[in-house]
Amino acid sequence: MVEDGWAASHEPLRLRAETLDAVVRDWYEDLQSPVQPLSGQLNRRLAEYALDRTTAETDGALAGEPASAALADSFSSRFSLFDDAGVGTADALVAEFEGSDLDDRIAKATVDAYRYYRDLHGDYVDEWVCTRGEMFDAVATAEQSLSEFSPELDVVILSGYHEFRPVERRLIERLVDELPMIALLPLHQDGRSGVDAVAEDALEIYEALDFETVELEPVDESGRVFGTITESLYRPDPDTVPTPDTLRWRELPTPEREIRFVARELRTELANGRDPDDLAVVVPGTEAYSGYVEDTFDTFDIPHVTTAASQLNRTFTGSVVHDLLNLAEPDPRAEDLTSLLANPLVNVVDTDQVNAVTAAARRRDTVSVSLLLDDVDDQAAALIEELLATLETLRTEDIEDATETFRRLLNDRFDLEAATEDYASGAEQAVEQRAYDLVDEVLSSFESLAAVNSDLSPLALFTRAFDGVPIRVPQRAAGGHIEVMGLLDARMRSFEKVFLVGLTSEHFPVTPERPAFFEEMTDAHPRFDTGDERLRGRYLFATLLANVDELTITTPETGDDESAVVRSPALDELQRVTGIEPEDGVDDRVGSREDLQRHVAATADRRAAVSRAGDRGDISPEQTKRTDRGLHCADNRGTAGLSEHDGVLEPETVDEVYPPSEREPYSASRIERYVECGFKFYADEVLGIDDPDDVEVVPTPLETGSYVHDVLERFFADLQDETEDAVDLTNFDRDDLATHLREIAVDELRDADFEYDGLFYERWKAELFAGLGDGVSAPYEAGSKPHDAPEQGLFATFLDNELSRDGAGRPHLFEAPFGEGLPDSDAGPFTVERPDGSTVSIRGYIDRIDVGRDGEQPTLTLYDYKTGRAPYMTKTTGGTKFQLPIYLLAAAEVVDGDLFEQGSLSATYYQVRPPNDLKVPRGVESKFDSEVELRRFLNDVVPEWLGQIDEAIGNGRFHTTLLSARGANCRYCDYSRACDVRHHRKREFVDEVHQDDAAYVPLRVRDDEDIEAVMSGRSAND
Ligand code: SF4
Repeated sequence: MVEDGWAASHEPLRLRAETLDAVVRDWYEDLQSPVQPLSGQLNRRLAEYALDRTTAETDGALAGEPASAALADSFSSRFSLFDDAGVGTADALVAEFEGSDLDDRIAKATVDAYRYYRDLHGDYVDEWVCTRGEMFDAVATAEQSLSEFSPELDVVILSGYHEFRPVERRLIERLVDELPMIALLPLHQDGRSGVDAVAEDALEIYEALDFETVELEPVDESGRVFGTITESLYRPDPDTVPTPDTLRWRELPTPEREIRFVARELRTELANGRDPDDLAVVVPGTEAYSGYVEDTFDTFDIPHVTTAASQLNRTFTGSVVHDLLNLAEPDPRAEDLTSLLANPLVNVVDTDQVNAVTAAARRRDTVSVSLLLDDVDDQAAALIEELLATLETLRTEDIEDATETFRRLLNDRFDLEAATEDYASGAEQAVEQRAYDLVDEVLSSFESLAAVNSDLSPLALFTRAFDGVPIRVPQRAAGGHIEVMGLLDARMRSFEKVFLVGLTSEHFPVTPERPAFFEEMTDAHPRFDTGDERLRGRYLFATLLANVDELTITTPETGDDESAVVRSPALDELQRVTGIEPEDGVDDRVGSREDLQRHVAATADRRAAVSRAGDRGDISPEQTKRTDRGLHCADNRGTAGLSEHDGVLEPETVDEVYPPSEREPYSASRIERYVECGFKFYADEVLGIDDPDDVEVVPTPLETGSYVHDVLERFFADLQDETEDAVDLTNFDRDDLATHLREIAVDELRDADFEYDGLFYERWKAELFAGLGDGVSAPYEAGSKPHDAPEQGLFATFLDNELSRDGAGRPHLFEAPFGEGLPDSDAGPFTVERPDGSTVSIRGYIDRIDVGRDGEQPTLTLYDYKTGRAPYMTKTTGGTKFQLPIYLLAAAEVVDGDLFEQGSLSATYYQVRPPNDLKVPRGVESKFDSEVELRRFLNDVVPEWLGQIDEAIGNGRFHTTLLSARGANCRYCDYSRACDVRHHRKREFVDEVHQDDAAYVPLRVRDDEDIEAVMSGRSAND
């Protein structure tokens, strides 16, 4: 602020803006020799080692306490306070505590720790490393005159201090003695009470030093208006001050909406030509809000830089360190490896390998790294193993070697410094680079103290050292950017317009938690106090108010988790003085493309609205075109008729993209899929759009189905090899059959080579195998919690079901193929012929055919195994399911001689649904009054329907489903957002499609058909 003011009216070069610490260091170096300031990390290490010794070697208040990171943090900042108070030795501290009210045990433990700390400092820290207190003290007590150090100085202006530590105070006293000095101190009241209470200390010092007081009045109207407010805050019975127009308070439903509101306001300001440098966003709860700010400001295209404190392990650099330390633990966890490999700063294996590891970790549901190594290629596995072996030394070597190893890893293997330099740009890059410097500082501190003995392993020392390291990115020149900052950074800055976000009691003022240990010390020795955050908060709030032309305060009604929030006491005080009330309600102005889309969605003529937005340049020409097409498509899909957007193709196009040679022979399931939904069929079969593979922890329904089919087929087929005829299970002993079934199932499981493990897979296996044999060789871990195995699994239940079945049929054929082109069969083509003579070619396998020859008329019973729920037979007669009739028709070609012609036909589903849900419903024949009707259905109706389906496909009828949303499984369909399958609309759609001669409309959805009539052949050609 001083610098800006000066630059506006004076020669810039004649003013040098420096921190007091930098000036003191310069002078100290002139006085002594070049020094290195004691780094925060080295200070923290000294405190850690000192505490380790105190807890191990003394029997005071700290004995036996593990020296956690938090404790070390508290002590290291307390030791800095001692240093700033000029208490440089343990004996000086003893003298300080003498005769005080402080509990002896606390005094003794602190002195013990401080003694170790000073000893360590003396023994291991290089002599050119200097503490802040030492430097300030040396300069303040130098024999030389200070003006000799900087002869060019005419005057010193001291700004930004409202409290002083003892060493700072001594230095100021000395400075005043020797140099002309001006001190700036914002005061709002009398400098001693109300909001100024915290500045009392500074004012007293200045008065004691005989500074001449010059009161500066606000230079403009806004300063005067806000000045009236700050004058009245925290005073008993203030005069009510009217709320000026320049002060607003906006309440929004959630923190996220708050940020969106601010973003829209900023957009308006920028659009009105306000310079971004004149705007600022002050967020006291920077950590809680930082995610929203980054996301939302990016979405709203707001140029901004953030200056806010965070934690090292919230950066990518910090995560690398964090993950590596976790991987150094015995039996490292998979999630740490996947997190490490997914880190954008890490590039040690290629993307495919990273994806393979991540997918394997999810699929295997495993916690251990070692199991993952099978899933990556040899090179990557070797690399990971080598990394883990290297990291192991962090547990086994001494601290010197461990630090060297860790450094080597970060530098050579991960090339972390270069990675942070290449990462992103601007503020994000600055954060990562600062994080890298901090990591380097931590490692350097261990190198400096390598000779200190410790009982802890290097890994434990590193883990503690990297825990909770705060990171602050130095304020950068923000030219052309709106600054987002914490409240402390806003002090002594002035802006035209500021948004103060999240003024809740949770975020402002925040009183840091201190161990009770130090509370008592502060009570007894105010010299060692860090000050009252409440008073400091009031002062900062008032100072911010006084430094802006316009202020908008925002608060959320609820927190992130819908919890109620309490307004900051500072806001209550502002309300008491000004009577300000929040403006509330939803903010629905358009500030981003997303907002625009929401608005367009609500208009009656969306295409016109999009076109207008395009003309105005709110969206680009490409976006306008794309959105217009999308709206046109949505319009078409929203109406009942068939259009180019409803999956209707020209026959010529179908010939090109899905010619008969590609689609025939059909399989029964492909036909059923088409009938279920033409559009989904089109996307899957014609366009070949694959669903993204879901990550599964157990075999998919498809895999389970195929495995169970294989087991059941082989179970009978192998028995048949022995008997060479239809299989009669009653000829076998149950135990032998169970053993036989188990052996086959285990064998097939091995062949299936499923890549699953973990509890859910164990349960999957248990649901199949339970009760099948002695349990000794069961391929699952019986009773593993939390999923106990059922007593009888699928296979055992199947066996019992088969043994208990009566009836004449005996299993005779298994997985019998029909039609041409199947991999394990050389059967010729199989076609069904429509009444008009055209044919449809089909192929497939019949799961099982049982034959009974005991009665007068032979029986032929077909089964189709279903590991899910068996469909209702009405779906077959309703023209949406075709497996059973197709298999019945194909059976004529599969079974010997005149069995088909002579036999009594039956076909049904055999539901084998894990864990033990077995059902064999009455077959399709039960839907007909006589064998004659069944055969008519098979010979006339079914071929006609199949022909219609083939024709519909050939004519490009790929519209959305005619069934109910449930019947088509729309809920699980990726296209559901683009379909309108609501019931009332469905009726209209079916009617429309029914008008179209080329479409196939299943009997089940037609109102105008009498099913009895169709089945009895009176209307089969309809
Ligand atoms: S949501 Fe339903 S109607 Fe739409 S494509 Fe999917 S299955 Fe078909």
